[in-house]
Amino acid sequence: MEALKKKILEEGVVLSDEVLKVDSFLNHQIDPVLMEHIGTEFARRFAEEKITKVLTIESSGIAPALITARELGVPVIFARKQKSLTLKNDIYVEKVYSFTKQSTNEITISKQFLVSGDRVLIIDDFLARGEASLGLCRLVEKAGATVVGIGIVIEKSFQNGVNKLKEAGFRVESLARIASLHQNQIQFAE
Ligand code: 5GP
Repeated sequence: MEALKKKILEEGVVLSDEVLKVDSFLNHQIDPVLMEHIGTEFARRFAEEKITKVLTIESSGIAPALITARELGVPVIFARKQKSLTLKNDIYVEKVYSFTKQSTNEITISKQFLVSGDRVLIIDDFLARGEASLGLCRLVEKAGATVVGIGIVIEKSFQNGVNKLKEAGFRVESLARIASLHQNQIQFAE
């Protein structure tokens, strides 16, 4: 998606060979016009999939997921991140390791909002090692629902998440694919 790639080149800050900061339009301040384009593009790519729910994880996935869901005419659910939980019967829980934060979170969704028979599109801001997306896939499976695809705003193709998801059989659609952040240079995969 050219508008997204342009924005990444103009405003992205390379923090290391592995981490890109995009606080000015996605992770802190949000560009609503760009989100509109992103959500519309995800909805176009997954239009034939008979999606019933869009699922993301708080907080940076919510903006693109919301527009996607609006375009598809379905609700959006965001999994919550919690450090530790007392045992509860009305939620699904999975553990997710975050390499940017170097910590493990428990992610949860209420059983009320994801049910057997749902056809789920997962949306996230970044794909790195695939931990967040795979955790969301496990939550969907626990509910007896089906993951029909995974939409990623920025894929870091040089990390192994995209291969893990594809090897597990999931369709992954990424709007910008970064091949390298080496020496402060943002190189796209295409
Ligand atoms: P994964 O679970 O695929 O390893 O990492 C994806 C999650 O980590 C995303 O939800 C995002 O919050 C965060 N993340 C991973 N890499 C980056 C990055 O380079 N920049 C930013 N801003 N977040 C990242």
